[in-house]
Amino acid sequence: MSKYDVKINPIVGTETTVLGLVGETQSVDIHKLRSMDIVEKVIRVQEPYKKANRAFHPQDTIVEVQNRKIGEGHFSVMAGPCSVESEEQLTGIAKAVQASGAAFLRGGAFKPRTSPYAFQGLGPAGLELLIKAKIETGLPIVTEVMDLSQLSAFDDVDIIQVGARNMQNFTLLKELGRLRKPILLKRGMSATMRELLMAAEYIMAGGNEQIILCERGIRTFEPATRNTLDISAIPVLKRQTHLPIIVDPSHAAGLSWAVEALSKAALAVGADGLMVEVHNDPQKALCDGDQALTPEAFDHMMSELKRYAKLENKNI
Ligand code: PEP
Ligand code: MN
Repeated sequence: MSKYDVKINPIVGTETTVLGLVGETQSVDIHKLRSMDIVEKVIRVQEPYKKANRAFHPQDTIVEVQNRKIGEGHFSVMAGPCSVESEEQLTGIAKAVQASGAAFLRGGAFKPRTSPYAFQGLGPAGLELLIKAKIETGLPIVTEVMDLSQLSAFDDVDIIQVGARNMQNFTLLKELGRLRKPILLKRGMSATMRELLMAAEYIMAGGNEQIILCERGIRTFEPATRNTLDISAIPVLKRQTHLPIIVDPSHAAGLSWAVEALSKAALAVGADGLMVEVHNDPQKALCDGDQALTPEAFDHMMSELKRYAKLENKNI
């Protein structure tokens, strides 16, 4: 195969081995490959995303962080405040969401705000507080990187989040491709599913294949909710890619009272988990208070989801 300008990605499954070729595949003689006894099937993957394509990797990818799995029958819930505000706020919320069954703590230290005058996050001090809360609770942490210059401070972060506004920051995506650490890639608010998969492909092309996709609502003509949760994106993406997909009902709805209903819908359509905003005092939250669940409302939602999960044969 070396005479061709292609890279081979072998994926060894239980029954078959898939050899994914990426590169100058036009020069490869498909008929010759087909005629080989050892080859069962040769398909040309038409879509521009290759490594993210289910045709390349028929089995679901499972992202594992500290013995917690995302995918494979696990419905993993990431919960926490929109922004890290103080040690007291963060550890209080972390303990509460953990007691209700959250598997990961989320919280923004670097915040992409529409207004330059709005609270921009605590920055590196926020990251320190997240790491403290992780040590205290044992919950792995998920937080957003906005810019390459911040990345060196993310060593102790378990899952690095790429926000909707950065989904097509290709320089950032390429750099994240060099890491060997899970990336939570949120769908841009005006991005098609294909664009989301191409963004994942950017990271995967660099060799980092631990990606969790996140549907967080898209912009439509409907102003009643902050965004419109594209619930059909979950079954559609599940056919197109092997990567796990979670739903963020908080940014989709923008309304705390709608979060539980959308979370149940996410579980029913086959999502692998959720990312939910929780605040101890939503009215005083420095960011996104309208969509934050109180710890009590989160606890109620989790007990409902545990009931629903049984129907879907999933563990929370
Ligand atoms: C967030 O998760 O805090 C966030 C900013 O979300 P999004 O990028 O989806 O708007
Ligand atoms: Mn938010």
